[in-house]
Amino acid sequence: MYVYDLGRAVAARDRLFEALPEGFEVYYALKANPHPDVARALHEGPGHGCRAEISSSGELSAALTAGFAGAECLYTGPGKTAAELNKAMECGVRMFSVESLSDATHVGLAASRHGTVADCLLRINAPATAASTGIRMMGKASQFGIDSETLPETMRQLTTVPGTRIVGAHFYTMSNAADEAALIGEFESAIALASRLESKLGLPLEFLDIGGGFAAPYAAPGVRAEYPRLRSELERMLDRYLPRWRTGSLRLAVESGRHLVAESGCLLVRVVNIKAGRGRTFVILDAGINALGGLSGIGRLLPVAARLDGGEQSLVATLSGPLCTPGDTLGRDVNLPELQVGDIITIPNTGAYGVTASLLAFLGRETPYEVVLRGAEVVSVSRLDVQRSYRVMKPEVL
Ligand SMILES: *Cc1c(COP(=O)(O)O)cnc(C)c1O
Repeated sequence: MYVYDLGRAVAARDRLFEALPEGFEVYYALKANPHPDVARALHEGPGHGCRAEISSSGELSAALTAGFAGAECLYTGPGKTAAELNKAMECGVRMFSVESLSDATHVGLAASRHGTVADCLLRINAPATAASTGIRMMGKASQFGIDSETLPETMRQLTTVPGTRIVGAHFYTMSNAADEAALIGEFESAIALASRLESKLGLPLEFLDIGGGFAAPYAAPGVRAEYPRLRSELERMLDRYLPRWRTGSLRLAVESGRHLVAESGCLLVRVVNIKAGRGRTFVILDAGINALGGLSGIGRLLPVAARLDGGEQSLVATLSGPLCTPGDTLGRDVNLPELQVGDIITIPNTGAYGVTASLLAFLGRETPYEVVLRGAEVVSVSRLDVQRSYRVMKPEVL
């Protein structure tokens, strides 16, 4: 059972807005947790609300259900299909991050079919900066983004794709930055490069999305990172490279998933069996990679071992799930209090990349309950439906 506390997600959002210069937009990456109540809480409120960063028809539906308008969505991803783009156009999405010339062409075709023009950000794959740490996905050969060194030749083509209007640049180079300095370093290179692309290559720049990398603990104790220097550092960089930002003529945005929601959630699992043998103790739980961390793949450990708060930690054990694969291990050499069958263990900081990033269909177990709280009030109790039966179709559907 996952438990999400909306107050914590909203507090994380408000804190992130405070850590940014006035006027910045924050795009919530729905892949971290598309639960409609969680997404809705991040969208609404008396202060700043988030917009939505989405990458599929499913995430688009989740965003719309949560109250985001199509016009508040940024559609990203390297493999947007014609069917997905049609649906996005129908739902009023008009802002797309394009990751290649071919991707831009597909976006333009869908827009033209809907008698409209899509606003596009060029996602840029820039050379790696020194000393960056975190989950880096750019700066090397990648399915993401347009290699910055090819832009002198391709800019003309990219900016003249029918059905599209290039309005700016999108950088998203890393996830879960190690510290504030790493984050600031990435943002500085993004802002400097965007400014160079504008002045040297004529990149239209009305909108600059500098990406993210805002950190959070995952399935381990800890608190979300604070960014006390970020606001003044971003102001300094923008004053230096894009001084017109002060006039409000440049839309600026960041993106975040885990930093907004990781801390708001925890996963409760029950001990089903305890088994000792060959020098090890195995605590077998009623949920494993079918409910948490399936993202890391079968046969690979959760990137962070689950550690648990509270009690005297006198037991060292392997935390296993119930699935019939040795890959269903949540943590090895985990410090635990003495446990009995039936005890409940809380795995903290699992509000991001929990249900959504897990192997829900594997081995046919029930999906976890998701309980949403606002303070002591229960907002909702739900369970994600995963199709257990096969919907038989005529071959013609292919
Ligand atoms: C996954 C993703 C995010 C969110 O990443 P977090 O590490 O959860 O903040 C933001 N933007 C894009 C383009 C992404 O693919």
